[in-house]
Amino acid sequence: MTDEPAAPPSFEPLPEDWQSALCVVAHPDDIEYGAAAAVARWTAQGKRVVYCMVTSGEAGIDGIHPDECGPLREAEEIASARAVGVEDVVFLRLPDGVLEYGVGLRRAIAEVVRRERPDIAITINFRETFGGSNLNQADHIAVGKALLDAVRDAGNRWVFPEQLTDGLEPWGGVSAVWAGGSPRSTHAADVTDTFDAGVASLKEHRAYIEGLGWEGWDPEEFLDGILRAGGQGLGVTHASTFEVFPLGWG
Ligand SMILES: [Zn+2]
Repeated sequence: MTDEPAAPPSFEPLPEDWQSALCVVAHPDDIEYGAAAAVARWTAQGKRVVYCMVTSGEAGIDGIHPDECGPLREAEEIASARAVGVEDVVFLRLPDGVLEYGVGLRRAIAEVVRRERPDIAITINFRETFGGSNLNQADHIAVGKALLDAVRDAGNRWVFPEQLTDGLEPWGGVSAVWAGGSPRSTHAADVTDTFDAGVASLKEHRAYIEGLGWEGWDPEEFLDGILRAGGQGLGVTHASTFEVFPLGWG
């Protein structure tokens, strides 16, 4: 035992020898709390990134009925994606707040993986907590677990074979799943140059941020806190952190 404070975590840079990524998350705004600044870095390098929202976040604003809220949040997410160079946002429109991990969710995600054929799949933290005692949300956990399975399902022609029509083929090319903001992050991306784009993407969630009713909450200050902590572990000003789940054997 020693009284010295624990050393800050030390992150390895994420590999960048890939061409396309698919980000699969439960809600509009999930990517924007840290990972979007990394997306901006990658799209600036010429990589293709596609977003897939499993729900439209329609149950996310207490004062707005889901029928009105869903389209509003979809529009905000599309604007948010544009702010970091992402042109394509897919909405699966499964029910917000009550996603269940299981075959149905795996099937829905596997179909998108087969269509988009990404090298890398990205989601947000799906561990039980965000570190400490801050509990994670059920939809995030369901989507992350289902994504890990779905990228393997997508490569097996005998799993969800009914999807393989009209030229859709199996896709087993996803080499890893990366989970942004995981308390078990081992890797990070330097986002010092794309921090502003990350802030701009978060600010596009105007109705949502207003709906939270957090007096004086500043998106820039908030992201600065998160990404500066990541930067410390990478030796840069700002960094987005990720837990890496390699696929395949070896
Ligand atoms: Zn969420």
